[in-house]
Amino acid sequence: DMSNAIVAQDEMGRPFIIVRDQGNKKRQHGIEAKKSHILAARSVASIIKTSLGPRGLDKILISPDGDITITNDGATILSQMELDNEVAKLLVQLSKSQDDEIGDGTTGVVVLASALLDQALELIEKGIHPIKIANGFDEAAKLAIAHLEGTTDDVAIDSDLFNDYLFKASKTSLGSKIVSKNHDKFAKMAVDAVLQVMDKNRKDVHFDLIKMEGRVGGSLDDSQLINGVILDKDFSHPQMPKEVTPKDGKSDVKLAILTCPFEPPKPKTKHKLDISTVEEYEKLQNYEQDKFKEMINYVKEAGADVVICQWGFDDEANHLLLQNDLPAVRWVGGQELEHIAIATSGRIVPRFQDLSNDKLGSCKRIHELEFGTTKDKMLVIEQEGTSSKTVTCFIRGSSKMIVDEAKRALHDSLCVVRNLVRDSRVVYGGGAAEITMSIAVSEEADRQKGIDQYAFRAFSQALDTVPMTLAENSGLDPIATLSALKSKQIKEKTSFIGVDCLGKGTSDMKELFVVDPFIGKKQQILLATQLCRMILKIDNVIISGKDEY
Ligand code: ADP
Repeated sequence: DMSNAIVAQDEMGRPFIIVRDQGNKKRQHGIEAKKSHILAARSVASIIKTSLGPRGLDKILISPDGDITITNDGATILSQMELDNEVAKLLVQLSKSQDDEIGDGTTGVVVLASALLDQALELIEKGIHPIKIANGFDEAAKLAIAHLEGTTDDVAIDSDLFNDYLFKASKTSLGSKIVSKNHDKFAKMAVDAVLQVMDKNRKDVHFDLIKMEGRVGGSLDDSQLINGVILDKDFSHPQMPKEVTPKDGKSDVKLAILTCPFEPPKPKTKHKLDISTVEEYEKLQNYEQDKFKEMINYVKEAGADVVICQWGFDDEANHLLLQNDLPAVRWVGGQELEHIAIATSGRIVPRFQDLSNDKLGSCKRIHELEFGTTKDKMLVIEQEGTSSKTVTCFIRGSSKMIVDEAKRALHDSLCVVRNLVRDSRVVYGGGAAEITMSIAVSEEADRQKGIDQYAFRAFSQALDTVPMTLAENSGLDPIATLSALKSKQIKEKTSFIGVDCLGKGTSDMKELFVVDPFIGKKQQILLATQLCRMILKIDNVIISGKDEY
């Protein structure tokens, strides 16, 4: 049921769907709520489905308080819909699980799960017991995954081709996203970021080491990967230099990373400080001056060129820092401080007297980024080449909506690359993987004699929904496309024939390099089957589903 969604067109004539599902709780308590759970799942899926693939529609989501999100990401769409129905909520969970574990394929998993539910409903109507269906689906899923595993392609992680392979896979995952015009740039950013921080021995990537920063203004094309950290700050005094590079004879800029304030400790008098004479006032001033000088001496003696401080400091301290040629940054958050420490291999120092040269961080350059039309400034702490241990993906875009969606797209792409670092096997996209599994499962159905054959056939048909949806979203006839692709796969005994969504003139996904990580596809099948089993096991859902049909 799409009654809450309307199709509109933007000024370029590109269609998109506006979903006004939020703030509609009351309506859902009415007639709508009487529909069965599985039908509710279907209605959610019908909205999600239209986003699948490179020709999928972007959604504009409007929250009750008017916030607008533009997205193509299944998990995001679902998370912003206010749903009353329990099964529909499970779909949200499903998409989130896929997002948490794999990071990509969040739309596909919902399409598959709802197709399985549809198939299950038909089998229940034929009189097959839900548990039998669930068991049959499990068996079919096992077979499908085993078959798919046999069709994977692999480029060894140490081979020369690996980087190119990552790049192409990253690019595919961006194909359906808002950044598709800049996908070379974003794909490269994802690959470079992952390769730089990856742990080669453990074949894993800590996403903590990849920071994502966004700033409205400029265009997506101004986005860049920074080998280091970017801070939403500027130097503490306007006369401090806009750029710090290594001083004569040194190879690095040295940073003191401090969690102690530039503030003199309160004089140790038991009584309230009473300043009644000029003399006393000067005494206090001198005391403060001395303390500041002492602190700055500690910093200087350790050999620091720049001070990064978690706290603020007053004008006096600021002026002394300037006088002593120590550019400084104040009010740096705890997490950012940690990032700086990692990126510069420095230590976070809690007391001035603990400062020493070996605890200082090192970098090649610190410079202020200015943004043309605004007064905004940011500071970049940069390493040379690829020597930083953390990186920052810095996203620019003309509006907050664009920046946010670009971040989500880049995140998906980072996930694809990370997944391939973990397991470099790929399967083919455009529904090719689903078609080859569907063929294998339906062949097995033909061999089965018992009741399982129905579940296998149903499972095979649910898999077909993915290529059919891709075809439909690309303006192709879903049934004709599917049967043509299927017979081609069978005739040529290949597994990489899929839907030519972008009209490139070939259905050879290998040639188009439309790939998905095997572990992502496997996870989709496992999660969708699991969800279906869960729902089939809850008896009253199915019974009420039938009653209210
Ligand atoms: P998800 O959130 O599930 O990743 P997407 O909207 O990103 O959904 O669509 C992914 C699907 O689109 C996958 O099945 C993928 O193989 C397919 N796909 C991506 N790019 C292409 C392409 N250029 N041609 C055909 N299919 C593609």
